[in-house]
Amino acid sequence: MSDHEANPNQEIVYKQIFINNEWCNSVSGRTFPTINPATGEKLCDVQEGDKEDVDKAVAAARAAFKIGSPWRRKDASKRGELMMKFVSLLERDIGILANLETLDNGKPFLDAVDDVRATIDVFQYYAGWCDKITGKTIPVDGDYFTFTRHEPVGVCGQIIPWNYPVAMLSWKLGPALACGNTVILKPAEQTPLTALYCCALFKEAGFPPGVVNVVPGYGSTAGAAISEHMDVDKVAFTGSTEVGKLIMQAAGRSNLKRISLELGGKSPLIILADADVDNAALWAHSAIMTNMGQNCCAGSRTLVQEDIYDEFVSKAKLMAENRCVGDPFDAMTAHGSQIDETQFKKILSLIDSGVQEGAVLEAGGKRHGDKGYFIKPTVFSNVQDNMRIAKEEIFGPVQSIIKFKTIEEAIERANNTNYGLAAGIITNDINKALMFSQSIQAGSVWVNCYDIVTTQTPFGGFKQSGHGRELGEYALKEYTEIKTVTVKIPQKNS
Ligand code: NAD
Repeated sequence: MSDHEANPNQEIVYKQIFINNEWCNSVSGRTFPTINPATGEKLCDVQEGDKEDVDKAVAAARAAFKIGSPWRRKDASKRGELMMKFVSLLERDIGILANLETLDNGKPFLDAVDDVRATIDVFQYYAGWCDKITGKTIPVDGDYFTFTRHEPVGVCGQIIPWNYPVAMLSWKLGPALACGNTVILKPAEQTPLTALYCCALFKEAGFPPGVVNVVPGYGSTAGAAISEHMDVDKVAFTGSTEVGKLIMQAAGRSNLKRISLELGGKSPLIILADADVDNAALWAHSAIMTNMGQNCCAGSRTLVQEDIYDEFVSKAKLMAENRCVGDPFDAMTAHGSQIDETQFKKILSLIDSGVQEGAVLEAGGKRHGDKGYFIKPTVFSNVQDNMRIAKEEIFGPVQSIIKFKTIEEAIERANNTNYGLAAGIITNDINKALMFSQSIQAGSVWVNCYDIVTTQTPFGGFKQSGHGRELGEYALKEYTEIKTVTVKIPQKNS
């Protein structure tokens, strides 16, 4: 439950580009519409950033990062205090941020409140790290004194997706700011509103101009300008594997900027026959249906051992049919709309391919209502590994239930994908759970649970699901350069 009020008429104040702590219009004069996916109606027009705007933002971030600048001179502990001030402003405005998120994204309001709370946790966690990022002194050979410094990388470009807009902003900005970097962030074109609102809070908290800059706009223009920029030191990206490859190519073509990528998945959740079927069906349902399936680590392949397969399918079907779909501002709603018409059509066409390829449609399979981009929670049984619904990232509420005989076979099939973001197993057999956790190629493995992503633990992908890790102490590595300083001294002693 939430004590914050759902308000579908939340006023939208911030629609401009944010550079150097100032709001500005795009150089081109262009704007783009942001749509409420639950109604299909335009919410407002937002200033459309492009290369020229990115250039301005990079110049501002570079100036803020200059040696001797207020940001570079700030005590690390004071950086932490500034981040905590921002945290208190987020807490003050949870309701506003959650309303903006629901309007822009279509997710249930209470889920949006949870996302803002998670955002607060992340900034709070990284605020604590600011004055604890340390190098080492190293006992080298000879009369030398050597130490390492973990310095900020510099100007960081951050390109984020639309599925968890404000939470993704925190995963990117939290560690970047804790380490002392400056940032140009591009929110997804579908969901710019919460990132822009956060800009007002960064300014109110007292961050120096140029430390946080936000340029809303499209991927192929503003996003590409960031990833190709010669004066951006690092790009962090979350989104599709396809665009992740473009980011890596752009880094290679330009200045070999550092990159971290958090990409797609086709994550398996394995249910062994010894599991409690009700409990397993519940985890599997939330693994795929949470956030309308628009979750990079969604459990989108449900592999169920043959002895309990039929019973599991009937429970999965019932849960999908009973899931409450509708107005995201209604407190009873568990399931809102998909993000936009493109995703809506893509999901429906993949559902169609499932039917064509011979999977059995147990539940859903069509749109819900007649406005907005709602899709009924969908369950397929009799799914075979070669079907598109078993191979491609659908990013929608589509559960593909696959039958297997032995755990060895399940592991082999689970690993037979280019992705490697997450995986789960439900079983009462500790040996099998541990064997699975060692054999599966995935950055996160959940045993008897799923999608438990915590601020303190690293998150990222094996194989084509990404590069590097976000969250936890590990994320600091992505935002620091290590410098070795060696000083000649008259005499070394132990
Ligand atoms: P996308 O990868 O195109 O977009 C993600 C972000 O990248 C957005 O901010 C976008 O503007 C930007 N972008 C797009 N093209 C770019 C380019 N050439 N250079 C730099 N930045 C660029 O994702 P999408 O088109 O919104 O969704 C397509 C599919 O991606 C989804 O169906 C889903 O499978 C996957 N996806 C994954 C995640 C995730 O969390 N891993 C999030 C969103 C989408």
